[in-house]
Amino acid sequence: MLRNTSLRATAIRLYALKRANGRCEGCEKPAPFDGKFGPFLEVHHLHRLGDGGPDHPGNVIALCPNCHREVHFGKKGQKYNLALTERIMRLENEQFYYTQERPAFILGPVDEDPRAPEA
Ligand SMILES: [Zn+2]
Ligand SMILES: [Zn+2]
Repeated sequence: MLRNTSLRATAIRLYALKRANGRCEGCEKPAPFDGKFGPFLEVHHLHRLGDGGPDHPGNVIALCPNCHREVHFGKKGQKYNLALTERIMRLENEQFYYTQERPAFILGPVDEDPRAPEA
């Protein structure tokens, strides 16, 4: 099962976690607990349009479970996702792209999140 794409996805997840440095890149609070492999944060894909594709550094963000759930299931989730996208774009010093046609709440959780949504 070790395809090229999954290796790249793993690398980009590790990159986002390293960039986050133990803090949620949304609310900036420390990770809620220590996971088996370090501070526990979930990696979310921002669905940005642009070159680089989904496994691009500017397209991922490390979030605490609360922020991650809000992006996907919150009433203002789409707005939050947009704000997070802008933040990461600034962080990565890139031009800002976002497609309103593919809001996160329609796509649902596309990240590699092992847990199914409870709602
Ligand atoms: Zn958070
Ligand atoms: Zn997500």
